[in-house]
Amino acid sequence: MPDWTPATWLIAAGRSRVAGDPLNVAPVFASNFYLPADRLYSRTDGTPTSDALEELLGGLEHGRALAFASGMAAVAVVFGRLPVGSRIAVPTDPYHGVAGIVDEGEAHGRWTVDRLDQADTPAWLDALRTCDLVWLESPENPMMTVADLPTICGAPRRDGTLVAVDSTFATPLNQQPLDYGADIVMHSATKFIGGHSDLLGGVLITRDDELYDEFHRRRLLYGATIGAMEAFLTIRGARTLALRLERAQQNALELAQRLDAHPGIARVLYPGLPSHGTHDVARAFMTGFGAMLSFETTGTGERASEVCARAELINHATSLGGVESTMERRAVIAGQERIPPTLIRLSVGCEDVEDLWADLDQALRPS
Ligand SMILES: *Cc1c(COP(=O)(O)O)cnc(C)c1O
Repeated sequence: MPDWTPATWLIAAGRSRVAGDPLNVAPVFASNFYLPADRLYSRTDGTPTSDALEELLGGLEHGRALAFASGMAAVAVVFGRLPVGSRIAVPTDPYHGVAGIVDEGEAHGRWTVDRLDQADTPAWLDALRTCDLVWLESPENPMMTVADLPTICGAPRRDGTLVAVDSTFATPLNQQPLDYGADIVMHSATKFIGGHSDLLGGVLITRDDELYDEFHRRRLLYGATIGAMEAFLTIRGARTLALRLERAQQNALELAQRLDAHPGIARVLYPGLPSHGTHDVARAFMTGFGAMLSFETTGTGERASEVCARAELINHATSLGGVESTMERRAVIAGQERIPPTLIRLSVGCEDVEDLWADLDQALRPS
């Protein structure tokens, strides 16, 4: 990347800069290309549109990026390369799709699994000496636990152990796992990178050319390549990531503080609050605390459901990272029954914070 800040790179990268070309790389709707050529077939070779997206995302993490049809497609490629008999370490409550892949592989006898508390740094340091894949997700969904990534990713490890970080909640702007020593960083581009809840996309970024080639081969074998329209929309969304994130995380801190003081709230989980268990860890290396927070209402799970239903501005919907705020209970999702029943996960968007607060306040009023 030239000597630009990430915020500038997001706007400047992935453009041809050739006279007569459009400023924005077009969505190239093509499965196949005239021969002879380096690019034969888009499942294998991507499109000029996905090339531009990969340049943009790779530059942010200082590595080589591969774009996928979804975050889960990217995850599947990382786990799919593990030989039978591998040992893996994952957080106790990873993203539920990741948990699904991990649990299924374990049930089929493909691998053994160490499930570790993300705040327990010594346990992760041990895993680096015993596991083939160490998979972190930080901040972790939905308790917002932040792993000490610089310590864990930079620690000594057994030869061949790979460290991967699902950095979706942090975005490429708040932390750089590859800089700390991770081998792989993964993002669901569906979330903050795309930013408008109108696409599915994923990305893997690495500095290891052999891993890159392996991921590329697996992407074509699995048919997990991103579509041209999705790549185009992801670039379009990513142009404003720095602006959106700045606003959204300002909003998130303000809402977290106000919720914390609200009598209808039992607990707020936001790494930006000094009361959060991993606040100090986050503050030591993250450049922002992100726009995701969770809170528990007083009373029952039904009351938490009422709060979601009564919101008029905040969208009662799953997923996250859009300009529009969304919230939902997580315990009602299959496989997430361990999450407290009164927990609501809020993805804070870019609306005016006073409007967001007024909406939360009216939704929290006792019925
Ligand atoms: C959404 C999400 C994924 C999966 O990404 P998709 O684009 O939905 O396939 C993985 N990890 C985290 C943390 C996510 O939020």
